[in-house]
Amino acid sequence: MDKDFVTLTIGKQKNIALIAHDQKKHELIEWCDSHKEILKKHFLCGTGTTAKMITEATSLPVKGYSSGPLGGDLQIGAKIVEGRIDFIVFFSDPLTAQPHDPDVKALLRIAQVYDIPIANNKATADFMITSTLMDQEYNHSVVNFQQKIDERAATL
Ligand code: PGA
Repeated sequence: MDKDFVTLTIGKQKNIALIAHDQKKHELIEWCDSHKEILKKHFLCGTGTTAKMITEATSLPVKGYSSGPLGGDLQIGAKIVEGRIDFIVFFSDPLTAQPHDPDVKALLRIAQVYDIPIANNKATADFMITSTLMDQEYNHSVVNFQQKIDERAATL
């Protein structure tokens, strides 16, 4: 058996994080509204301002973490590590410098490490949300971190 990877399951009901930079917030709200019937079937959360604005505009329940520039992206990254977020729609703004750019990079990196589907623009989000996998469990291979710790502790 390959101990370097473990199989994790993204459930049928997904834990979706929604994030948008300021210039993209209205685009994400419109996107949520147009996919409301699908989004209703899943658990939604997001960075503070984005979550609040989506709930106010669409009535979808979105659990809000801290605001992005105050650590919300890092909170979402930490939930990925804990296996509590398994799908991300993050409309980032490629044309505006962000004070919390290191946090954004950290989130993108950890999503990649844990093989989390992440859409950073509307077209990708449209393809992801209409995938047949949205109604199914999905098994994926993720680095076996316990094994890595054991190896590192034994060799360093
Ligand atoms: P916000 O954070 O939803 O609190 O605005 C988003 C971000 O800028 O990362």
